[in-house]
Amino acid sequence: MKTKLFFYLLLIVFAGKSISATETVSGIGTYDNDNVFANILHGKLPAKVIFENDFVLAFEDIHPIKPVHILIIPKGQYRSLVDFSSKASDQEMVALLKATGVIAKAMGLNEKGFSLITNSGHDGGQTVPHLHFHLLGGEPVHWEKALRKNQVQYK
Ligand code: 5GP
Repeated sequence: MKTKLFFYLLLIVFAGKSISATETVSGIGTYDNDNVFANILHGKLPAKVIFENDFVLAFEDIHPIKPVHILIIPKGQYRSLVDFSSKASDQEMVALLKATGVIAKAMGLNEKGFSLITNSGHDGGQTVPHLHFHLLGGEPVHWEKALRKNQVQYK
């Protein structure tokens, strides 16, 4: 009986941990200097970097959901896309967009295609409060088809 209780307690602790690890965050508010990607940017956490310039860093996602899963982030402190688009300089914006194309091509995704996704705030499912784009490829992504209940055939 005691062993069973201990086992259930362990299960609750680990379940709680995995839930908090995927908690969503707000895309608005003050920038959190201690978020995971800030730590990667400052070299406090390791990452498999695949591209870097003055404005952009790109690295492999720690839990890839496709054969190619790269996170592309601005080096500036922006929580989300709206934060970025309202505060970043034109130079930063151009650099981020250019980098996504360069990286997609360098990763060999141009021919077969890819998805570029940013999750913003709670409803978007954002879990790290630093703007990032997911570059997904290497096999069909089709995320919107998987989510849509009623399939629509567009002409
Ligand atoms: P979001 O859920 O905010 O759209 O995406 C956050 C992404 O960051 C997730 O895909 C998650 O796997 C990734 N991630 C979380 N922590 C780390 C980390 O320490 N290193 C790397 N490389 N990726 C991380």
